[in-house]
Parts: sequence; C-alpha cells; structure tokens
Amino acid sequence: MSDTSDSDTASEYAVVDPRNIPSFSSLFSPYSNKFGIDGKYLSMRFVDTINLIEMDDFVETNFLINRTYKCHFNQKLTLLMEASLHGHVKIVRELFNRFNVTVDSIGNVVHFGSLVKGATALWCAAGIGCIEIVKILVENGANVNFLTETKSSPLRAACYLGDLNTVEYLVEHGADVNITNIYNSTCLMIASHNNHKEIVEYLLIKGADINKQTKCGSTAMHFAAQANNLEIAKLLIAFNAQQLKNEQSLTPILVAAERTHHNFVYFLIDESRLHLTREEKIEAEELLGASFLNDKDHYDFNQGYDILLRAMKRRYEEHPIINKKVNKTVECYNNKVECQTVQELLDIKDDDKAIHFESLIIRERILGENNPDLLQSIIYRGAVYADEHDFTPCVLLWSHALKIAKHNKHSICKDLIRFTQVFCQMIKNNVTIKLLDLKNILQFACNELITIKKILPDVDCFSSEKSEYYSNMKSTLGLIIITSIALLQNGNKDDPMVGDLMKVIVEINKLELKTDKGETLLHLCLNYDTNVDNIFTTGICCFPNFLAMKLLVHCGANVDAVDNSKNTPLHYIGKFITDFPHIPHNSDYLDTRKMVMELLNAGAHTDFVNKLGVCPHTGYLSTLFNLTNNIPRSLKCLSASVLRYRCPKKYYRDQLPKKLVQFTNLH
Ligand SMILES: [Zn+2]
Repeated sequence: MSDTSDSDTASEYAVVDPRNIPSFSSLFSPYSNKFGIDGKYLSMRFVDTINLIEMDDFVETNFLINRTYKCHFNQKLTLLMEASLHGHVKIVRELFNRFNVTVDSIGNVVHFGSLVKGATALWCAAGIGCIEIVKILVENGANVNFLTETKSSPLRAACYLGDLNTVEYLVEHGADVNITNIYNSTCLMIASHNNHKEIVEYLLIKGADINKQTKCGSTAMHFAAQANNLEIAKLLIAFNAQQLKNEQSLTPILVAAERTHHNFVYFLIDESRLHLTREEKIEAEELLGASFLNDKDHYDFNQGYDILLRAMKRRYEEHPIINKKVNKTVECYNNKVECQTVQELLDIKDDDKAIHFESLIIRERILGENNPDLLQSIIYRGAVYADEHDFTPCVLLWSHALKIAKHNKHSICKDLIRFTQVFCQMIKNNVTIKLLDLKNILQFACNELITIKKILPDVDCFSSEKSEYYSNMKSTLGLIIITSIALLQNGNKDDPMVGDLMKVIVEINKLELKTDKGETLLHLCLNYDTNVDNIFTTGICCFPNFLAMKLLVHCGANVDAVDNSKNTPLHYIGKFITDFPHIPHNSDYLDTRKMVMELLNAGAHTDFVNKLGVCPHTGYLSTLFNLTNNIPRSLKCLSASVLRYRCPKKYYRDQLPKKLVQFTNLH
C-alpha cells in the first residue's frame, strides 16, 4: 500500500535546501488533469485550497489548512485527511513542516464503499495501509485510539485492510488491541473475517481477547467459520478459543455447516481439543448435509444425501443411540416427520422431493424455527418448484418464509414482488389461485405499508424505506390486478373468502397511498406508464387496467383524488386515449368507455381542472363520450366554477370554509 515513488525520493527530499522549499504545486499538477500524483484522485477543493495557501496570505493560511470541506460522496475532509486517504506522503510531510496542522481533526470519508463518519487522518492512513503517513501522524501526536462515530479505531481500519506493518506499528505505539466498535466487534474478529492470518496471530500474541462476543454473540471463531478460513480456525483453537453460541444458539461449527463449508466442519469434528459431544458432531453433519441439499450455489444431492446417511448411522448404529428431537410438523414441509431410522432414510433415497423436505425439516430443527438463516433455502426450494410449474408447494414455502422474515422484522419488499410474480405465472398457466393465499399476502402488504408509512415523514428522499414503499405500492397494485382476475377463475366465484378479501382492499384504500408524484393506486392503475416488473408480470399486470380499477372503486377508492398536477383518474383515461388513439379501446382490460362509466357511476367530477387548465368535461373525453349532454353538472360544481373564474380569489378565499375553498379550487 505504500507509495514507492514517495519513499524512493524521501531521502533526496530531506536534503533540499531550506531556502528553496518546493511549492505544493510542484508536488502535483492540479490543472493538467483531475488526478494528483500517480493518478490518485484529489478533489478540486483540495487543489483550490493548496493554491490559496501558495498565494502566501498568512492571515488565512491557518484557517485554510485546518478547515473541513465537502467533496464527492458526502465526504467531509481536511487537507491532512485527504492527503492521508490517498497516500500522499510528501504532502502530509510538508503540511507538518510548514504549518500548524491540527492532527486529530475529524471528518467523513468513504472507505471500501461506505461512508465512515468521525474519522481522523490517522484512521484514513491506517485504512489504506500507508505506514509512512501513519508514522508521520503518530510522531506529530495523533491519538492512536481515536474512535469514529461507530467506534472504529485506526487499528481496526488496518486490521480490516490487512496491513501487518501498520498493525504492528500502531500496537507498538499504544493502540489498544481490545477496543470494540459499537457492535462489540473486535479487531481480532475483523481480521478473522477478512482472512488476515498473520494479523490474527499477531493480535493473539499481543493479548487480544479471543472469546469476546459481538452484540449478536459471535466470536472470532464464528467469523473464521463464516469466511471458511481453516488456517485461522487452527490458530484460534491453538490459542484455546471456546466454542460459544451466538444469539441464534449456533456454535462456529454449525455456522460453517449452514454455509456448506465441508472441510471446515470435518476438521472441527475431528479436533479433539474442542471436546465436542457426539450429538454436537451429529447435528453439525446433519446440518451440513441438509444445507448441501438446499443451497442455491452449492447444491449437491449426492454429497448431501451421503452426509445425512452417515449422520443417521452415527445416531442409531453407535451406542448409546441418540434419538432425534422431533419438531412439530409444518404444512409447507408436507406435514412430514423426519426419518427416525437408517432404513427410513434409505427408503426415500430415490425420492428427490422427500429428501428435499427431509433436509428442510432438519435445517429448521437445528437452526431454530424463526432463524433468518432459514430464509434463503426455503425461498430457493420454492423457486425450484415455481420453475417446474408446481405452484402449490411454492406458495406454501414462500408463505412460510414470509412469516419468518416478518418475525425477524426483515423487509418483505422482495417477498411481495416474488408473490406477485408467481401469481402471474399461475394465471398464465390457468392455475386457480386460492383466495385465502391472496388475502393473506395482501394483508401482509397492507401491514407493511402501514408500518413504512408511519416512518416516511422522517426519512430522506433517497432512503431505502422510500423506495421500498413505492415498490410495495406497485406490488400491492399487482396483487389487486391478480385478485380481479382470480375472482373470475373457476371455483372462486362463490368462495366465502371473497368478502374478507374485499375488506383488505378497503383497508388498503383507506391508507390513501401516494407516490412521489401524488398518484394513488387508482391513478397508477389507469396510467399506461405503470409497470410492476418488466419480466414475470407482463401480460397480466397491464395498464390501464379496467378490472382492477373496477375492484378498487368498488372497495372505496377515491375517484376524485388528484395527483401533484391536479389530474383526476378521468384525466388519466383522457391522456391514454389521446396518446394512443389507434389502440382498440374495447378489450376486457382496455375498455376505456367502461372505465369512464365506472368512474362516473361512482360520482367522479367531470369538471376538475388540472394544472394545464384541462378538465374532462370540456376536453377530449367530452367529445368522445358526449359528457356535456349526458352528465349534467351539479349546481354546486357550477357555483364553484363561477366563483373560481368570475371572482377574485381573495374574495372567496376568506369568506368560505376551508373545505369549500379546496372544492372550489379543484374546478
Ligand atoms: Zn365538480
């Protein structure tokens, strides 16, 4: 990580005649390109500041030297931090030689793709492993144990990167090897996770606490297991690492088994110093085998089955016999009970489906019924069924995953998209969708929207909550379209579930959901630009959509809702007709006449004026549907237009109740 050209010239630099100190601009060429020495990026603010300093205005110099300035990706830097972050040894040295630099100023820096708040120059230099700069900073009094906002120390930054020289230097100069960050994670853990064996060894020699646990209960050994690093595991065992449980009750060997780290698992099984019990070893093998049978990336049927069989033999053919703890049965696993003997397992050897369920049940028994680690394998198995057009087990498995996700307060945004997609596939394949399934998923969507809507006012516009909210809105609309079709499917018409399903849609309408453009679900449903996803829902989730619109209106959607440009749903139909005059407007989904009639029957105003001054009553819709003759305007609407267009606003604004003013302004 060190800058070789800098170190090569360092000695030469030291003998420069002090009367002939080079200018900063001779250290890089700011105007030739945006890149400083050796192509490393320096912000224009850095260059500007240096140029101001070069102008020798001593009044401003100290201020300029130590001020923080903002630059790309929300970073906040001082000159010293930016130079340290990019490994500019000469500049750092010159700053100290010539000015009164505050060594521990703090700012925000991007490191390995994330924004680190409250970092010092030493943290920056340690994080890129620039030992020369680290030395200059420490020699100039930098605090080696200064912590960022998340309590990351410079030593942690060096351990993350894996630069042993920097790690050694910092520890020799007082860095505390046992400082933890806000998650209680230690330097030893980060080095173990990032596969830096030499650093792990060094930290252990220097007294790092080997059995410390994060807030989630993980130890360095758990991280080595996650990263599948056997060499580090051996080191940790040599230093007597205990096999502790994390908050999911998983020991390191189970963490490795869940991730199909075969060699790691068998090494621990054979390692006598760990004193694992026979049952712990059997469970690790069972989890390993079961994971091979349900892992998207490491799926291996034969290996998985062989390991399960071996574990079964250890259970029932060695003495004493260790019986399985039988869990309650779960519907999505076919209500199956795990095999209890070697023979039972041999009997299902050629039954892929039975083996897959067997392994899902094993995973749930060992990992625990609400462990989020279960999710990936359940979703994967469901997806395999969906690909085979075997939709019933898919819906059951995904519903099970949805409950586990919700239990762990995980976002269910992707689950909702997934369900919308699979339901569309079912419709395309003429498979009847159970209304109960639809009702349950819609209820999940509704509850999720309620939760996110509450926190929405407090988040900024680029937040993940906001994009999830819009995504959930679209999935919900997709589900409503699916409902409108499912209600017409065979066997669903007289289902007593219809009423419950409607109630959920009524509840959703009451939420008055709006996009950033102010569109309600009804607007989205009539907007030809809407798309739910571009792949699996095409052909089913088409817009504008008459059936879904009818269902929304039937369930209480506000037919007079206006978007940010004051367009009503009628305006959206008008726009569709004008923009696509040659499309036949009379199919089941695209029948614009039926759409207009539906809205008019629900009492939609034909005379709301949008920001462009267009209202359906006088515009294009009127000519098509003869609105002027067929739909007499009500007296209150006429009065509203008279007020709005014949009276000065200030007159009626103060004379009328607020509600009437709003009503008038819509006309
Ligand atoms: Zn009106």
